[in-house]
Amino acid sequence: MDRLTAYDLLVTDARLVTPEGVRTGALAVAGGRIARILSADAPLPPATRTLDAAGRYVLPGVIDSHVHFRTPGLTHKETWYHGSRAAAAGGVTTVIDMPNTEPPLHSLELAYAKAEMISGQSLVDYRFHFGVREDTVDVLRDLTPRVATSVKVFMTGHHTAPSVIRDPAVLDRIFAVAAERDLRLVLHAEDDGVFSLLDTHRPGPDSYDAYEPHRPRSGGIVAVAKVIDLVRRHGTAAHVLHVSSAEESDLLSAARAAGLPVTYETTPHHLSFTASDTRRLGARIRLSPAIREERDQECLWRAVVSEQVTTLGSDHAPHTPQEKARPAPDAPPGLPGVQELLTAVFTGLVRRFPDVPLDDHMMLLSRLCAARPAALFGLDERKGALTEGRDADFVVFDPSANWLMSSREAHTKNTWSAYEGWTFTGRVDITVRRGAVIWDSHGFGDPDGQWLDARPLGLETARPATV
Ligand SMILES: [Zn+2]
Repeated sequence: MDRLTAYDLLVTDARLVTPEGVRTGALAVAGGRIARILSADAPLPPATRTLDAAGRYVLPGVIDSHVHFRTPGLTHKETWYHGSRAAAAGGVTTVIDMPNTEPPLHSLELAYAKAEMISGQSLVDYRFHFGVREDTVDVLRDLTPRVATSVKVFMTGHHTAPSVIRDPAVLDRIFAVAAERDLRLVLHAEDDGVFSLLDTHRPGPDSYDAYEPHRPRSGGIVAVAKVIDLVRRHGTAAHVLHVSSAEESDLLSAARAAGLPVTYETTPHHLSFTASDTRRLGARIRLSPAIREERDQECLWRAVVSEQVTTLGSDHAPHTPQEKARPAPDAPPGLPGVQELLTAVFTGLVRRFPDVPLDDHMMLLSRLCAARPAALFGLDERKGALTEGRDADFVVFDPSANWLMSSREAHTKNTWSAYEGWTFTGRVDITVRRGAVIWDSHGFGDPDGQWLDARPLGLETARPATV
């Protein structure tokens, strides 16, 4: 025995999804960190508590780098307490929250005040994406990794996203300042000029048949082309969010292949639904960007399995059922999704790629949902992988469970799910954050999630000298 005292927690008979591959064995936790990974034939050390994984997968806790937990100011839609419960039930152990709250996160003071508000409410660890408006660009010069390593830019707006950057000169300055200050931009890349022009031409939508044409792919394609041009000129690291169309995906993959510091995200809902679902189900599947056609969905799945996509984010953006029930011109876009993220994508993977071994699906998910977001946002010294020394954030996942998703299972404040009536494959049985069980069949753990620090991104040194 190499240890005089017992480990705090030992997870036995696990299919451990490590960066090197899936291996059967045990995982020992001490002081909230992964202390040891043991092979299947190693003798089991003593532990205060033992969890029998019974041959199920243990994968790194999901880092959802795209949630809107609506604090402060919009807590009728979601609270941190409810949102973090939904996260824990979905295998998420860290979230990065978006700045379009009321007030929006445009000052350092508000970041500290927001962390104070969340303290004692959150089951999961958290970070913030900082926000920017046309008159607050200089605030970005004062950002430190403690507060944020990333800045959200809205190139178009909607009901809960009023701080749009419309002036091309200001957008240019934001890209320049971000490059200079070692910040990654995360972008809602749809072009406001394109949408305004279309709105003068054909107002609407008066029904959900007209919704996707009302916010068409041309908005995304034009904005992505602008982003790529700005990245080329300034060398800024840019992560394009919720990519919805085949054309945007192709452009961004090409920019990456050309060596530009561009990455992109897609969402479970763009992978799970098509525009015909929006026509059929109305506001429930009203998203911004809109859900596109089957050919787009197929292209996005190919980008996921080929890892052209860098992260999967839920874009958890809840509204109340009353808000969603408004007439079509005024129903807000967005759906709750942090709880469904891992299971919805796993379900899609096993149905679309049944010949691929489950181990490979789990390895893919561990990269797209944990390792990559940790690396992009400076959390990889502590998070993102089952590696000795990192935080003991992990999920016990049963890949063979088939179960019915319904609003009764939903832990978001307004308890509805876009996936109502879906049979999911794969279930999150246990979620552990820094060694503490925060979700299992008995319920939830303690809301003692922490506001995480991050390392500097080091983008300056990673950037090629000429771009
Ligand atoms: Zn969002």
